[in-house]
Amino acid sequence: MNHPVYGTLSLAWQALSTATSVLISAHIDPDGDSIGSSLGLLHFLRSQGIQAHIVQEHPIPKNLQFLPHDSAFIQHDDPDIAHIVTTADAWCILDLNAPQRLGPHILPLFEQYSGEVFLFDHHVNPILKAQYSNVIIESSSTCEIIARMALAAHLEINTQAAECLYTGIMTDTGGFRHSRTNADVMRLAATLIESGADPVKIYDKVMNAQSLASMQLLGLALSHLSISHEGALILMIIRREQLHGYSSEDLEGFVNYTLSIDGAKIGGLITEWEDGTVKMSLRSKPTHEVRSIAEYFGGGGHMQAAGARVRQGNLEEIVGKIQELVKI
Ligand code: 5GP
Ligand code: MN
Repeated sequence: MNHPVYGTLSLAWQALSTATSVLISAHIDPDGDSIGSSLGLLHFLRSQGIQAHIVQEHPIPKNLQFLPHDSAFIQHDDPDIAHIVTTADAWCILDLNAPQRLGPHILPLFEQYSGEVFLFDHHVNPILKAQYSNVIIESSSTCEIIARMALAAHLEINTQAAECLYTGIMTDTGGFRHSRTNADVMRLAATLIESGADPVKIYDKVMNAQSLASMQLLGLALSHLSISHEGALILMIIRREQLHGYSSEDLEGFVNYTLSIDGAKIGGLITEWEDGTVKMSLRSKPTHEVRSIAEYFGGGGHMQAAGARVRQGNLEEIVGKIQELVKI
């Protein structure tokens, strides 16, 4: 891939590889791209003898537990976290561009952090300030950016690293179907397969891991879709009482069903949680965009995949506002 923006990645790696201890953090409610890129980068740093830790608000979701990881993955309640953070000389932020997306416990640590910050991301309009900002919105995923950095720096991509990076490319492109899927992405995926990633195993581990209860909730949600704008807007709304006992991990992939209905242009999953937070996950066909809707609610994302969370939100009002903001 000869895109000029990838040239800066060698410089970022040069600077990063002078560190002795590095932190890696990605967004709350982690997905295949945030976990895959974090573990992939961890691997490359270790291969150079650099000590590294992944500092994360939430644990690795069940369907990504198969990715090679160890005690270097720590959560906010780890007793050593303060020491690990203060002794690190670089902090790599992956797959997010607004500091709030680090989560309520990691954010204050990040705000007090005085070392160098490296940002690797593919979302537009970064708010987060970094000494080394590698925001490549043309990329399918943060895993693609980390893989291209490794290739540019001539690092060895072993089976473990390849598995992690392939996973994030696969999940962020919706299984090589969404708009960032192109020949370069397929070539990179092929390189990762040649490096040891097993596409059949990874698909099975990541995608065929829903619990029965989660599938039953999906069935319920699909039978109560809110359909408006002559079938172009499909909202899957799940209320607080229906979500009892579930976590956001159980809803992985639900939103995609809204766009698979013939005639749908914009789809959304709107969930109301026990603590009063209303979360939205929005998707659109390439002819439409949803980022501006997510931004209205203080969130963000990509043109065709965006999200927001509204604390103490009123579900009916939020749904009404989305219906009003949608332009078909
Ligand atoms: P998802 O709907 O899968 O949770 O997220 C889709 C996209 O929207 C992702 O790229 C994610 O980074 C972004 N996104 C989701 N929730 C939020 C949010 O609360 N704030 C911001 N700024 N972006 C979000
Ligand atoms: Mn991503």
